Amino acid sequence: MPRPIRAEIALGALSANLEVVRNCAPRSKVLSVIKANAYGHGLMRAAHALRASDGFAVLDLNDAVLLREQGFKQPILLLEGAFHAGDLNAAAAYSLSVVIHRGDHLRWMEVADPRPLNVFVKANTGMNRLGFSPSDFPDAVDRMSALPNVEITLMTHFSRADEPAGIDAPLQTFEALASAYALPRSLANSAAIFSAPQTHADWVRPGIALYGSSPFATRSASALGLKPVMTLRSEVIAVQTLAVGETVGYGARFRAERPTRVGVVACGYADGYPRHAPDGTPVLVSGERTRLVGRVSMDMLCVDLTGQPGSGIGAPVVLWGDGLPVDEVAGAAGTIGYELLCAVMPRVPMVERDA
Ligand SMILES: *Cc1c(COP(=O)(O)O)cnc(C)c1O
Repeated sequence: MPRPIRAEIALGALSANLEVVRNCAPRSKVLSVIKANAYGHGLMRAAHALRASDGFAVLDLNDAVLLREQGFKQPILLLEGAFHAGDLNAAAAYSLSVVIHRGDHLRWMEVADPRPLNVFVKANTGMNRLGFSPSDFPDAVDRMSALPNVEITLMTHFSRADEPAGIDAPLQTFEALASAYALPRSLANSAAIFSAPQTHADWVRPGIALYGSSPFATRSASALGLKPVMTLRSEVIAVQTLAVGETVGYGARFRAERPTRVGVVACGYADGYPRHAPDGTPVLVSGERTRLVGRVSMDMLCVDLTGQPGSGIGAPVVLWGDGLPVDEVAGAAGTIGYELLCAVMPRVPMVERDA
């Protein structure tokens, strides 16, 4: 028998979450973001479950080519743009869309033979990662407009879309730049889709919402109508009984203050569970909530089963997913759902299920 850990992927939840996004932004087309191996869920698996999307966004040319070869005909956007001039030839050959975000992208476009290409010209409205500054942006758009066979969409990305005060200033900057052109626009990530309808424009770019995790620290995924897609499951593989004063795991971080029954779960940081999760991080055993005790090790973690005398070796464990939102585990561990989902390691088998 294989080690009992597995990540179940609920394909129906992916398509249901896409519908939630559509209902939230009914006048926009949806560019489903499936970068980072679809936030850890499997690129192709997610693309098929999200095939009703109007387009996809990835980072790697190879991922985009794979999608084309699998028959996906929608626009596919390379979110970090071309890394080398030659990438633009491949992008044209596979009818990909490319983010244009720096000066040499403009030059690569201009020196090449005229070729049909969709470009998303990116404005830096305060994130200060990718994109043309407000003073350089008009020149970038004008130079792309001068090229034959080039279709242009204007885009930006918010640094604080998850905060009420995070939208207005960058939105005004973008609107001031974009209003000079009658061109389609794309601004909104998951947080802006839910919190700022005025940013929806022509294309929304949901990522995390599709995977059933909340982009907000203070609004749960279920309150947004989202369903968890990944459930990370394992089992109790050993039980220990600690006397008062005994400890469990490396560094003896957890010390029993009363007689404590401890379940050892086959899941550790080499599976992608966060090593920095503190004592008290929630874990479900036999459907009941209990707490992590002791340091997470490479292949195992420990939970308190004192209150669950019926749960022993073989008891089913949910690390996150059904019944335990990944955002709660992430919050306890001082990170965000995005990081936990992306960090699931290749050694964890993924199993698809319909609903
Ligand atoms: C990753 C990404 C998104 C999706 O963001 P979420 O917060 O996961 O919805 C959208 N746009 C860009 C440019 C991105 O890099």
